[in-house]
Amino acid sequence: MTPNKIIIAIDGYSSSGKSTMAKRLASKIGYRYIDTGAMYRAITLFALERNLINNQGSVDEATLQQLLPTAKVDFQVQPDGSQHTLLNGIDVEAEIRKLYVSNQVSTIAAIPFVRHALVALQQAMGTEKGIVMDGRDIGTTVFPNAELKIFVTASAQTRAQRRFNEMIEKGQNPTFEEILANVTHRDHIDETRAESPLRRADDALLLDNSHMTIEEQDAWLMDQYNKIIESKSMIS
Ligand code: C5P
Repeated sequence: MTPNKIIIAIDGYSSSGKSTMAKRLASKIGYRYIDTGAMYRAITLFALERNLINNQGSVDEATLQQLLPTAKVDFQVQPDGSQHTLLNGIDVEAEIRKLYVSNQVSTIAAIPFVRHALVALQQAMGTEKGIVMDGRDIGTTVFPNAELKIFVTASAQTRAQRRFNEMIEKGQNPTFEEILANVTHRDHIDETRAESPLRRADDALLLDNSHMTIEEQDAWLMDQYNKIIESKSMIS
């Protein structure tokens, strides 16, 4: 383990901007960024491609459990430094962000055997430290001992507007109402599921970024990171 490298856990609500801040911090401090939402999305795509989710959203869990070991999720760094999600070696980065995947992902993410498999994979990615991981349960379940934990939130309207703008930029064609419904629906499933529900870890710092620019957010996060590193170097 590299001395002074830490684990940074960034949790929060859908479209709260946590992946933007996580990615930007990771690239500034030379850490690896891991988007755990993308891993749940890739498994959802895997299930959809095999028709394991019917029109009512009910999942053929027995078959999914049997096939899950054949679903390999990885990340591949692109020439511009961004990362793409691979499912069994195929770049699924664009596909997993589409609304038909977003609409089912929280159902798949609530299944305990799916969570156990992905949490084990995420923990293995953190053995060397030096990572910024974002998700819903990183500070509570994946890395309860992470040195820096942040819990990000913003109003549902603000979050839906951000996701809407993002999708329009990518050439997709959603309505704002569809996006708002998806964001609040996912919040509800994430907060009420039995297996590691979305909640702020007791020792996580709360950030409500409804009225912050990306630059203000970056500066706040860098400040928190510097404080931890300074306190660690005083101890060692
Ligand atoms: O972060 P993103 O919105 O892409 O995550 C997609 C979905 O995956 C979330 O709505 C949530 O249901 C699930 N998720 C989770 N635990 C994580 C990351 C994501 O349950 N650590």
